[in-house]
Amino acid sequence: CGIIGYASPRSGRNVRDVLLDGLSCLEYRGYDSAGVAVANSSIAVHKREGEVSTLEDALPDRAPDGYAGIGHTRWSTHGQPSDRNAHPHTDCDDRIAVVHNGIIENAHTLRDALEADGHTFTSETDTEVIPHLIEKGLDRGDDVETAFRRAVDRLEGSYAVAAVCAGHRTIYATRQQSPLVIGVDGGRYFLASDVPAFLEYTDDVIYLEDGQFAAIRPPDVEVTDRHGGLVETDVETVDWDP
Ligand code: GLU
Repeated sequence: CGIIGYASPRSGRNVRDVLLDGLSCLEYRGYDSAGVAVANSSIAVHKREGEVSTLEDALPDRAPDGYAGIGHTRWSTHGQPSDRNAHPHTDCDDRIAVVHNGIIENAHTLRDALEADGHTFTSETDTEVIPHLIEKGLDRGDDVETAFRRAVDRLEGSYAVAAVCAGHRTIYATRQQSPLVIGVDGGRYFLASDVPAFLEYTDDVIYLEDGQFAAIRPPDVEVTDRHGGLVETDVETVDWDP
């Protein structure tokens, strides 16, 4: 339902606060659960059924510090509202965390194949196939970006997807029939399904188009098309009347 991401050139404890703020700004869209993942040398995932304030109450006092984080408000389509089905979803080794808006039509087939391959799933969502597909790529020796692309290539349906990986300062993102926009503020970047999620920080944006991929790696962001070709992006200033 709602996606927020934040990547900063410096590690800091404010990553989690930016994500929670963003999720609060997306509450108007309706949702049944919320979660955040902050990446450092490992990934800290916290998620809860219920309101963003419930998630906030469940978080440890000491915010995990990190360079890049993603958050999600879920409107469930596959699997009931529950802590386990809330996003972000991870792979078996908790190396990858993924948030997703939309529906993966071929999730059942992909899940059967991954389970036959030894992957253990912890949720009933269609989304969880994505971190496991990325994990499969990493195990094959792909770099994270290639593993992300190859995983997304397997998906049928509508999606906006964002992923972070332990030990990497990058947010990987893509979309297909589901909105995703990058917020630009000096060397730091935001990512959201909807501009209001980061409007308090910046109104300079790059709109991602269907089939495009973004590697948000402060101080740079790289947008590529579905074949990996570099795309020239325009930063637009949105005139948003709240
Ligand atoms: N299909 C996913 C799920 O059920 C994502 C739903 C959404 O867009 O929030 O978890």
